[in-house]
Amino acid sequence: MSRQKDHANLFDDARSRLEEVCEALEVHDDVRERLMQPSLSLQVSVSVRMDDGSLRVFPGWRVQYDTTLGPAKGGIRFHPDVNQEEVTTLSFWMAVKCAVVDLPYGGGKGGVKVDPKRLSRLELERLARGYIRAVADIMGPDRDIPAPDVNTNATVIGWMADEYDHLARRKVPAAITGKPTALRGSYGRVAATGRGALHVLDLWAEQEQRKPEDTTVAIQGFGNAAYHFARLAHERGYRIVALSDSKGAIRSENGLDPDAIMERKTQNQRLHDLVYCDESVCIAEDVEHLDRDDLLALDVDVLALAALENQIHANNVDQVQARALLEIANGPVSSQADERLNERGVPVLPDVLVNTGGVIVSYYEWMQNLTGERWSEETINERLKEQIVREGRRVLERAEREDISYRQAAYRQGIERIAEGILERGNCQ
Ligand code: GLU
Repeated sequence: MSRQKDHANLFDDARSRLEEVCEALEVHDDVRERLMQPSLSLQVSVSVRMDDGSLRVFPGWRVQYDTTLGPAKGGIRFHPDVNQEEVTTLSFWMAVKCAVVDLPYGGGKGGVKVDPKRLSRLELERLARGYIRAVADIMGPDRDIPAPDVNTNATVIGWMADEYDHLARRKVPAAITGKPTALRGSYGRVAATGRGALHVLDLWAEQEQRKPEDTTVAIQGFGNAAYHFARLAHERGYRIVALSDSKGAIRSENGLDPDAIMERKTQNQRLHDLVYCDESVCIAEDVEHLDRDDLLALDVDVLALAALENQIHANNVDQVQARALLEIANGPVSSQADERLNERGVPVLPDVLVNTGGVIVSYYEWMQNLTGERWSEETINERLKEQIVREGRRVLERAEREDISYRQAAYRQGIERIAEGILERGNCQ
């Protein structure tokens, strides 16, 4: 089943989950009514002059799902499969996740339908700047604050920040987060999603009285979040036994060292094509090459999903043998698959908690930009740990207390906070 085909259900799925939570919490009807659709949805066409002189137009979106708790917050994704439905669903998830970890933000998301790997560096810069020109009217430090997401790194965000400053005719660093540190980005932002995910895994392991050394982990994806998670988890002592990218997977029962792999990997080189042992050095022994999706069916303790949505779905969920799932990507387990895992008693640590490290450190970046302060990496990492562990513990305890899944507990925690805001605001807007 392709990811694309499933998109039609993505938003419906998100809404049924919302319905369920509203029912369980017995919230006022106003809350359900407000949260069933986005508050603002903007579709744009971004024209880009290509290096060969031709003009190409890329469709793009920015959606502000809900802004009850604060300005909209969320990344911008560049991907060939991006569409309005996906961006809307991702913006809903942003609203939930910001509330789960108690950030003063609503949810937003942006995207451009493009394969960035087919653009030159200059074409990519023109696209990034063009996108900001198209959505700038609804952005701003107290309106909507974009950030990186799939295929938009600090460099791309740096171009976007510069374009916004040009349009505003002044410096507005708090208008976008995930900037390079030289442009008032925050220390620790690049590794934040992976670092946060590791704190949540640690919480679960502690609860299960499981030692990292005795815990095997397979990771789907080798992008920014996946790499930093893999690196830090390996450092902590977890055994990373398999990794994959969009073309294939590798496995080693002796464990893989993500840093050694990254050091050797040249840009755009696939995990599959890398030489792990040659005459001079061996960076991983007994590396076995697998098909990309075989990684999902490995007999491991933890399956960490750090690629895209809908990777575990109705058709492959029964092949999953992992003892627990860790959702580092947004929405990697479809709702049908989620139900099935629930029935089988396989815990899923949900995206709306696990991947909040990125947006938490975005919040710290925004605070530093508003006050002109500069916090050290150590301070950032300490605050991140304190915040995600505090809110994560609440979720895990609630799941136990109310005898519900971790996902249900996280959603209840987030929706409860948004609901309180909606009701406190009154009815006369
Ligand atoms: N794109 C990231 C996410 O999905 C980060 C968003 C942000 O930092 O605003 O959570």
